[in-house]
Amino acid sequence: MARSFTGGCSCGSVRYECSVDPLFTANCHCRDCQRASGGGFVSVLGVPRDALKINGEVRYFEVKGDSGKMVSRGFCPNCGSRLFSQPAAAPTMIGIMAGSLDDSGWYRPAMDFYTASAQPWVCMDPALPKFPKMPPMGPNR
Ligand SMILES: [Zn+2]
Ligand SMILES: [Zn+2]
Repeated sequence: MARSFTGGCSCGSVRYECSVDPLFTANCHCRDCQRASGGGFVSVLGVPRDALKINGEVRYFEVKGDSGKMVSRGFCPNCGSRLFSQPAAAPTMIGIMAGSLDDSGWYRPAMDFYTASAQPWVCMDPALPKFPKMPPMGPNR
């Protein structure tokens, strides 16, 4: 995996830079990620909050996640691109939407979360570990 990586929103007003390897990578199939993204699931990478440098204004929308805990979903107020997930239960961690990476070629999801609510029209990689809800070591998104 990449040692450091960069990314940002569609319009370029939000840019970020991370200097460490992700703590985890996963596809999240919870209903909330489906609604927030408008897609079948969200591919995310979790990094330590203090290893992520964000430039530009990010607006956060707070929602109660499927875990029952609050999640702040960060997006660019100019173009609406979803960028981050900040779970209230894990304030030292932040989730980055993999599609916002400048170079997403190295990204590989390592597991599927919340497969209990996965859409029947989404094809999951059978080789990846599956968790019907959040895995025990998970960040409670
Ligand atoms: Zn933008
Ligand atoms: Zn989710």
